[in-house]
Amino acid sequence: MSNGGELQYAVRASLSQSQTPFSTASNSRFYLQMTIVGCCHPVREARERATERCSQLIPCLSDPGRRQTSVLKLALVVLHVIFVGVLFLLDRGLREKTLREPWYTAIYLLLLVGTIVQYFITSATSPGYVIDAMRAWNETHATLSKTSRASEQSASSKNGSLISPSDGHQQGRSIYEIKRNSWVMHVMNMYPPGSYSRYLTCTYCNLVQPPRAKHCHDCEKCVLQFDHHCVWLGTCIGQGNHCRFWWYLFEETTLCIWTGILYITFLKANTGRQWWQDAVVILLLIILGLSLIFLLLLLLFHSYLILTNQTTYELVRRRRISYLRLLPARVYPFSRGICRNLYDFCCSRRSIHAIERLPTTEELESRATPYVCMDIVSCRCC
Ligand SMILES: [Zn+2]
Ligand SMILES: [Zn+2]
Repeated sequence: MSNGGELQYAVRASLSQSQTPFSTASNSRFYLQMTIVGCCHPVREARERATERCSQLIPCLSDPGRRQTSVLKLALVVLHVIFVGVLFLLDRGLREKTLREPWYTAIYLLLLVGTIVQYFITSATSPGYVIDAMRAWNETHATLSKTSRASEQSASSKNGSLISPSDGHQQGRSIYEIKRNSWVMHVMNMYPPGSYSRYLTCTYCNLVQPPRAKHCHDCEKCVLQFDHHCVWLGTCIGQGNHCRFWWYLFEETTLCIWTGILYITFLKANTGRQWWQDAVVILLLIILGLSLIFLLLLLLFHSYLILTNQTTYELVRRRRISYLRLLPARVYPFSRGICRNLYDFCCSRRSIHAIERLPTTEELESRATPYVCMDIVSCRCC
């Protein structure tokens, strides 16, 4: 027998030995595993049937990504209900106060509902995708529409009234190319002369990215003024929803502070309480305190970003971004002063697809000069 044959024989022998019942301890483990699998099989089948039924009833849950986001959203709502519900269940003083001063509890519950509504609105608001910006640009660009129509007419007149499928395909492609080229020209105008579009093209979307845009691997799209992808909201934070995100953080922080005050008031009150009531409230208060620290830091961080017109991505990955890499750390290229930045962020009614051009060298130099007393008097920041 050859070496290969001997090896196959040895492997078969070892397999047959290991699968012979009553021979070794591993066999009893094998039987135990089979028994567990046998017991779990109906449970698994029932779970699969229930999942399938849920997917039929709510089609969006068939997507694992959306299912995960839905679970997180549900968890967040449940957490809010638990924290507020426990308070009203255990705190007799608060219930009595509600009867005496209903407006106090009404405002608190209004804040709770407002925070949850703000969370869902922010989650549903588009962060502003580059592909949508390109479509919006093409729709509003009159010259492009004329060019498209002209090319359509010339194609149809060339073939009479009938257009063969291949010609239709070619025509569709040429219109797409015209639209794409128009978008490329529009975006390249936002960069300094001499920039190459191929270095600014997203390799996933095959679209030229405007300044401050970045591809999100969770959303699988390029996002305008990309800040970060928020797992809790299940969406990106970008140009379209950064303002709503800040307001959500603000409301959540306020709700956390108010709830914490109510918890501390409950613990300080000298009413007859069970020990476990104190334990539950202290545990929830610790979780609340940790959440509050996180929320406060996040709120302060985003307030700083807004005042200096930066994004989280630009701040963290400054060395990776070609047009920021060479700038000194204290220069914020998109900042137009605290007041103007604040106005643009909160009150400006510009489209979510508006693109911000890169500042010229002169603008950057003027922004790099340090502030002097006269700048404050002349209100340079405005
Ligand atoms: Zn992309
Ligand atoms: Zn994303």
